[in-house]
Amino acid sequence: MEIENNNATPSLSGESTPNLLQGIGVSPGIVIGRVVVIKRHTCRAGRYHLPPDHIQKEVARFHQAVTRAEDELVRLRENFADDLADALSIIDSHILMLKDRMIYDQTIRFIKSKNVNAEWALAQSLNHIKNRFDKIADPYIKERYADIKHVADRVFSILFGHKPYQLVQENEPVIVVANDFSPEDTMQLHTENILGFLSEKGGVTSHTAIVARSLNIPAVIGLTHITGSIATGDTIILDGGLGQVIIKPDSEQVQVYRRKALQSEVIADELAPYVHLSSETFDGYSVRLSANIEMIEELQTVHRYGCKGIGLFRSEFDFFHQQPQPDENALLATYRQLLDSMSPHPVTVRTLDVGGDKFLDHLPDHSSQLDPERNPALGLRSIRFSLHEIKLFTMQLRALLKASAYGRLRILFPLVSSLPELHQAKAILRKVSSDLDKEGVVYGSDIELGVMVEVPSAVILADVFSKEVDFLAIGTNDLIQYSLAIDRSNQHVAHMYDPFHPAVLRMIKQTIDAGHAQGISVSVCGEMAGDVICAVVLLGLGIDELSMRPAVIPHIKRLLRHFHYEQLQQLGEDVLRCVDGQQTKNFIKAYLAQHYPYQCNNY
Ligand code: PEP
Ligand code: MG
Repeated sequence: MEIENNNATPSLSGESTPNLLQGIGVSPGIVIGRVVVIKRHTCRAGRYHLPPDHIQKEVARFHQAVTRAEDELVRLRENFADDLADALSIIDSHILMLKDRMIYDQTIRFIKSKNVNAEWALAQSLNHIKNRFDKIADPYIKERYADIKHVADRVFSILFGHKPYQLVQENEPVIVVANDFSPEDTMQLHTENILGFLSEKGGVTSHTAIVARSLNIPAVIGLTHITGSIATGDTIILDGGLGQVIIKPDSEQVQVYRRKALQSEVIADELAPYVHLSSETFDGYSVRLSANIEMIEELQTVHRYGCKGIGLFRSEFDFFHQQPQPDENALLATYRQLLDSMSPHPVTVRTLDVGGDKFLDHLPDHSSQLDPERNPALGLRSIRFSLHEIKLFTMQLRALLKASAYGRLRILFPLVSSLPELHQAKAILRKVSSDLDKEGVVYGSDIELGVMVEVPSAVILADVFSKEVDFLAIGTNDLIQYSLAIDRSNQHVAHMYDPFHPAVLRMIKQTIDAGHAQGISVSVCGEMAGDVICAVVLLGLGIDELSMRPAVIPHIKRLLRHFHYEQLQQLGEDVLRCVDGQQTKNFIKAYLAQHYPYQCNNY
């Protein structure tokens, strides 16, 4: 996954980083180095008809290829110590898979019954298996197809007569980049001169990710098109903890990350205890610290960092990554797993936030009829898109309501800008509920409803919205860009994107006060929430919940636990008196330098 709209993610200091790509961090560690992009052989299996007296020979050839693949795996396994139990058990499972009846027996059956060559027969067996896996909704089980494919690829490569694959033979340490790595490739990386790796494919629960973690190889995966975006020889920074990659960093970025790399081990040890502590101020004032995630695969990370709830599930990513598009049952399976895994903590699922810069063309069934927009940021995006594509919106709401029986669901509508828009969305939700009632479907009775405050009109109407919903979630990424009229991906104005702009901070305060006046909670789920210098102000302004990338939570928890609530409130009041963004930032930095003994660079 490459979050293209995050190309200019605001950093800790509020400055943008245009050469930053966001992927999925599967194995922590910061490394800086030269890249080697690996392009692999693609094996295309042609179909050859064999005379009957060749069939036994062909079966024997296939059998030999499987035996050789087995030998390779056994040899690879011998290079590793027994304490790498996770990695070794994955190789063992691959050895067993080679002789699995769906691959081995089926391929031999195809060779014999169709009088065909082994390559084609194996390709057919693999196709059959893939068709079966495509029908499985559970993403964890689906991911297991990748293992079968890796095993089959090894046999293909032997059948095609390719030399045993040497990933890289480098004299200096490098970061390798490829479309995909098998778990065995990853183990091989460990024995070579490798700093870390990036790949286009894979998920957090993939075996490749598990092996990378157990061998401590920093890795970021799910970076679509990365092999086309960087070339061998380019220098990059890889942050496996945050899933970030900085392409061709400047010398200042290299310095910053070298320092971070040095500090990160110490910090990891220092922060570990915070994972299990409650999120409250020194004097016991609770603030919920929850997680922003895009994919179900991230749940493992969510639990690892002790997150007590999902503050933002960006549901659109499910649609971008699945072909064909998920149907109601597939969505239900995802949402159910999400709610089940987090229960009894709340899970906030934001309804589709497509449009704008979020790949409208990934939804071909629904959006191909729409003309390209001249000004997509002000166009048919987010809730407007859902209200235009009511069938799709209804399907998502049905899946959500059905899943609500398994946990604590909060539904969040993105980019709401007027009351009629909210009324329309609520009316569709009511219709979905009454349809489910008629169908006798049981769903949660305590579902909460929220709107995202991401445009100035929503801030001004926050008091009105607060009477209509159960919570407000401030999306500062969009609120900053819409209120300051700054396109973060435009290099000429990106530097003006300023979370400390007094107008932004006052709007946040106005929203919090409006929500509290109606007795509802207010969260921030934009990047500001996970940035120490911004978070300390948000806490001071009275925010009830901060939602951020899971890995950042221990940093923010340490910040929260360090202060008395009154101290934070005083800081909030002082900051609101500042009338200039730079002055505000300097003021907060000076305050933290004086009162907070820990580093403020959490990413
Ligand atoms: C935001 O705008 O702050 C937000 C959380 O939404 P997204 O970044 O997904 O647009
Ligand atoms: Mg947004």
